[in-house]
Amino acid sequence: MMQESIAALTAEITTAELNNPAELDAFRISYLGRKGRLADLFDQLKTVPAEDKRAVGQQLNALKQQAQARFDEAQQAAEATADNAPANPDFDYTLPPVPNALGTRHPLSLVREEMLRIFGRIGFAVAEGPEIEDDWHNFTALNFPENHPARDMQDTFFVESRTGGMVDSADDNSQTHQSTNPQPHLLRTHTSTVQVRVMETEPLPIRRVMPGRVFRNEAISARAHMMFHQVEGIFIDEGVSFADLKQTVYYFVQELFGADINIRFRPSFFPFTEPSAEIDITCLICKGAGCNICKYSGWVEIGGCGMVDPAVLENAKIDPEKYSGYAWGMGIERIAMLKYQIKDLRLFTENDMRFLRQFEAL
Ligand SMILES: [Zn+2]
Repeated sequence: MMQESIAALTAEITTAELNNPAELDAFRISYLGRKGRLADLFDQLKTVPAEDKRAVGQQLNALKQQAQARFDEAQQAAEATADNAPANPDFDYTLPPVPNALGTRHPLSLVREEMLRIFGRIGFAVAEGPEIEDDWHNFTALNFPENHPARDMQDTFFVESRTGGMVDSADDNSQTHQSTNPQPHLLRTHTSTVQVRVMETEPLPIRRVMPGRVFRNEAISARAHMMFHQVEGIFIDEGVSFADLKQTVYYFVQELFGADINIRFRPSFFPFTEPSAEIDITCLICKGAGCNICKYSGWVEIGGCGMVDPAVLENAKIDPEKYSGYAWGMGIERIAMLKYQIKDLRLFTENDMRFLRQFEAL
């Protein structure tokens, strides 16, 4: 009886079809499962006469191994086939691949990174700050008089809270400098706000460069925008002079535009520096000969700079008798326009692919 069952099961196991997942599953349940037919036979082993038990046991074990081996082999074969199966059998695998179109880097990113690399090589580390600022960091700490026209609603975007009033100064150390009256928040009009934050919080000497987005309430045209980017820098230590400032600017301009570019400092006025200067360089279009871009002067302006006003140092609790420093600011758009000879500021934000594709691919 037992011998017949074993023979029948052996025949079934050797001939079972194992061509698809359903058949594989059925085989596993019937022959390998805990409640399968092979398990049944193992249960019946106790009914076998004692003298035959050993031989029958060996037969059953051999059969179990055979079933397991068949199952493993069929399963591996099924998996290999699944891996190689074409998703679409009609697809022509000899076709050349469709190239993956990589993007290009935005010209403002290219120029920003290049500027930061150049200043990084002489020890200026990047500092960043919030785009929504308070009056202290944007104006008061930077020595803007109460009635300075830059504070006018025409130039500055003020931020209102959701309840309709001006946002309270909640976050930062400006409270320590100001009265407890809530002060209006605004979109920063320059990255000098980060200079104030760095001077207030970092140990001396300070050598920082601050890139960022700034906002002015201006009509958008080829030459003006309500949003643009600056890179500013500040250096504060004992005995810093205007000569140090000039050397830093010379170094930067020649690294960025080449050694044949001339630089001149034109006296100017900013509330936060004294003395102050505008930085002009040789017009890159006409090489100084005169063209309509430089209004036939041979010079173009790239930014402003100066020695940090002692009042600004005092506002940041730095002793102006002991320390001095210089600062500068440049527009990234301005430099990109000169470098790539771009004539319309609006191109930077319009995302016209014909414009963007002209710059270095990633
Ligand atoms: Zn020119």
